[in-house]
Amino acid sequence: MSMRQRSFGVQSRSLGVTVGPASSLPLESEESGSGTSKRSSGPATEERAAVAAALASSASEANEVASSAKISGLLPPPPSAETRLESAPPLNLFDVEATYGTTPTRDLIRSLFVLRTAQMGWLVRYAPTLYRWTQRVPLLRESTNLFIKYTFFRHFCGGETLSECREYVEKLRARGVGSILDYSAEGEAAPMNAAAVGRRRGDGLLLEESDISPDEVRYDGAANVLMTTVQWAGNEARHCDTISCLKVSALARFELLERISEALAIRFGNLTTTHDGTPFLLLGHFDANGLVRAIADSYEFDESEIGMAGAVGMAASGSGAAVDHEPKQPSDSILDHVSLHLFNEYLSPAERLEFARVLCRLDAVCSEARRYRVPMLIDAEQYSIQTAIDFCAGLMMLRHNRSFESDQETPAIMYSTVQSYLKDSPERLKAYRELASRFRFRYGVKQVRGAYMASERRRAAAAGRPDLSPIHDTIEDTHASYNAGLSALIDEVRAGHAAALFATHNVESLQRAVELVGSDSLLRRNAALRFAQLYGMGDSLTFGLVRAGFRACKYVPFGRVDEVMPYLLRRLEENHSALGTAPRDISHFLAELRRRDLRVPL
Ligand SMILES: Cc1cc2nc3c(=O)[nH]c(=O)nc-3n(C[C@H](O)[C@H](O)[C@H](O)COP(=O)(O)OP(=O)(O)OC[C@H]3O[C@@H](n4cnc5c(N)ncnc54)[C@H](O)[C@@H]3O)c2cc1C
Repeated sequence: MSMRQRSFGVQSRSLGVTVGPASSLPLESEESGSGTSKRSSGPATEERAAVAAALASSASEANEVASSAKISGLLPPPPSAETRLESAPPLNLFDVEATYGTTPTRDLIRSLFVLRTAQMGWLVRYAPTLYRWTQRVPLLRESTNLFIKYTFFRHFCGGETLSECREYVEKLRARGVGSILDYSAEGEAAPMNAAAVGRRRGDGLLLEESDISPDEVRYDGAANVLMTTVQWAGNEARHCDTISCLKVSALARFELLERISEALAIRFGNLTTTHDGTPFLLLGHFDANGLVRAIADSYEFDESEIGMAGAVGMAASGSGAAVDHEPKQPSDSILDHVSLHLFNEYLSPAERLEFARVLCRLDAVCSEARRYRVPMLIDAEQYSIQTAIDFCAGLMMLRHNRSFESDQETPAIMYSTVQSYLKDSPERLKAYRELASRFRFRYGVKQVRGAYMASERRRAAAAGRPDLSPIHDTIEDTHASYNAGLSALIDEVRAGHAAALFATHNVESLQRAVELVGSDSLLRRNAALRFAQLYGMGDSLTFGLVRAGFRACKYVPFGRVDEVMPYLLRRLEENHSALGTAPRDISHFLAELRRRDLRVPL
């Protein structure tokens, strides 16, 4: 049965989403050619087996097909014992000379200045207010932005444009490190106010059409920038092991994402409430099985996709060698496959239409990532919109990851992000595991600790339910949660079920991961296992991991200074922490300067 266009009765073009041909974008980028190098995909029969499993109508049916596929060799065979016996290079995460030996002295001094400044409590506390204030006076605005550009921005960002990032990306490549390109525009959270939520909902869940923001042009623009980034990564920086990433809030109205999260929570039967009974998105609303069901109910494969999946399996076998044909794209608009009928009761027609436009934008970006074989990480954001993000990420994985089953260099194209500081992070990880196992694809997960701790706690307090804060009560609980996720994911990578990217500066977690991998040199080099640190933070960890034979990359944000300010302010806050990576980085800069016989009074 096909549900083509049943849900909306419109094509994406008639929805007015104007993403695509990205060449006309305001973003300065190098010329985009079409010379993408392609990598291998699995044999056609394997793809068909995977699709057959995906189409099995029940989970048990799918599992049956999956296990028979396994028996007939659907998954690549494990490497022989001999290939794993190479001696593993030693791990040294604190080698100052190897990390900073070639860094110009002026850069070391700037970094030292930036991190020392971030230690000033008063500055970190008042930085957002001070910055807003300076932006009101033209002369002050320009000088402040110039100062930020040559200090904090230079330390934490790759540049204002992709071209400006090139030098750094190339330098990383020369040292065996990959790059995650991040256009750092972020969505703004609406003021958090439980009473407003109650009013907004009124007698039901429907908003008036007039409540829908007309600001769609900005979201289309963001999608275009993301597509340009993918094209640049796939063409200009193909040889640099580049990855891309996106924030769903850059493509959608924040309040709409909250409404999707609420609708899903109601659907799961788990929407939590404040003390006065107002429904609110707090701890306890998420349900893994519910999310899998919601995604499975919303997406339908059709014959063209079976053909498509079969057609990609033409690559040179197992070597990861380049092939000279385009990887097949899904031939249809995502709207031919998605039905939002499960939201009918909870969202107004206008909201459903708005959400359909978000899915079109997101799919346009992810399809580009698939075409250029540039892995795409979907960032995790605030808790109140995270369930909507998980829904979108699950849909994108279902639609795009299935063609990469046997691609050695790109084992997964779409990655979602799991924040271990969330008490329900195991449930979110489980949702991806179940979805992938049911529909036979390799899921991708970036695991982080989480960056919105203070605002989440404030939000729970504002709702009068600090007891339902979604964040772990202590940092030790967060560490334990991260390490548990880490070991579960490494098992999944080893079994060929998942691709994982561990984004952390935590030395203990990194050492634990290295221990779990042990001397398995194939796993160390496996593209399904990566580590990442932020630009300007924890360089000794990134380079130490690469020297030990692992795949590691740097997260390289770019954008105009004013656009990346929210990101810079978060970095300032994070580097203020005495427990974070800043004190270690500072001691490394000082050690390297001393090694050069320089004394810096900072
Ligand atoms: C490549 C990359 C991508 C990232 N992408 C995202 C993303 O998509 N979404 C996102 O949210 N973050 C993201 N982050 C940021 C990340 O979540 C952390 O803020 C940052 O990396 C610091 O965590 P850490 O693992 O390095 O650990 P550490 O520095 O060891 O620990 C600090 C973290 O522990 C947690 N924590 C601190 N105090 C407490 C407490 N009292 N109780 C409970 N928990 C506590 C917080 O999460 C804090 O960030 C990313 C980081 C990197 C390196």
